[in-house]
Amino acid sequence: MRRAPARLVLLGTGGTIAATAGHANELTDYRVTEDVDAMLAAVPGAQALGAIRCEQIFNIDSRQFTTAGVLRLARRIRALLRDPEIDGLVVTHGTDTLEETAFLLHLTIRHPKPVVLVGAMRPGSALSADGPLNLYNALLVARDPRSRDCGILVAMNDRILAARHATKGHTTRVDAFGAEGPGVLGWISDGAVRIVQRPILPPAAPFPLTGLRKLPRVDILYDHQDAGDHLYQAAIDAGVEGIVVAGLGNGSLSPAALRGCARARRRGIQCIRASRVPYGEVTVKASDDEDGILASRGLNPQQARTLLRLALARGLDTTAIGAALREL
Ligand code: ASP
Repeated sequence: MRRAPARLVLLGTGGTIAATAGHANELTDYRVTEDVDAMLAAVPGAQALGAIRCEQIFNIDSRQFTTAGVLRLARRIRALLRDPEIDGLVVTHGTDTLEETAFLLHLTIRHPKPVVLVGAMRPGSALSADGPLNLYNALLVARDPRSRDCGILVAMNDRILAARHATKGHTTRVDAFGAEGPGVLGWISDGAVRIVQRPILPPAAPFPLTGLRKLPRVDILYDHQDAGDHLYQAAIDAGVEGIVVAGLGNGSLSPAALRGCARARRRGIQCIRASRVPYGEVTVKASDDEDGILASRGLNPQQARTLLRLALARGLDTTAIGAALREL
């Protein structure tokens, strides 16, 4: 019998959504055991959503993601989006670094078709596992024409988030992912997809994947009271090309962080000051130019790191990186 052409592709990369534990009450100690076909088979009603083709890219905890892995995933997504037989994609992913992959895809891929990242906070074996409903909802979002032209999306715990703003804000609760106001594009309610706002996206991805084989090393250093500058020296010695400081408040830097960044700048290493505070913009200061340090503007440290890696890979200078930060 001829199968109907696949209109959706479900890409599996692992994470808690693909994990099981020894018993139903174990919510946090688990291992990745399920492949993407098994996960889809466990979702009641998925057969009614049309043809869905599964592809296992890898099956890992997201703390194990490498740059090579994320670029491989991105290239596969780009190829599938170009296939006229495919209407949309869902990517299962561990939640710990989901936002990093989502933001890299946001910066490198622009296509009208929906790409929806999804994960789970509880393993499939758990009491009240959230994976099956999250996956079902993500598939609904990916096949809904209203999700087109919204950029890269994250569907978690009934909400539809823009990858640009999605961030994990809780260690264990199923409502772990949030986004500041503009990042919540809609929700899924009893099987109905509701998109109530659309992001403003530049027509082309700022850092297309073409020719991108590797990314330079950029470290994030966390600032705090009475910090030392030894970690800056260690980063310099390790050969980083960029440093992002998870700074204090509005991206202010301790004396040691300022010293560390000055030392890095003298060696041509680009520095960005972001903030360890989860929400709000890091605003530009008059002294930034003099210090040669950029404000992360609306990006959190992990997003600023992703942007800086892509920008350095493309050979952007401080002025151009500053302009890219202003646009995001
Ligand atoms: N450890 C898991 C991961 O990121 C957490 C999760 O998926 O919720 O792969």
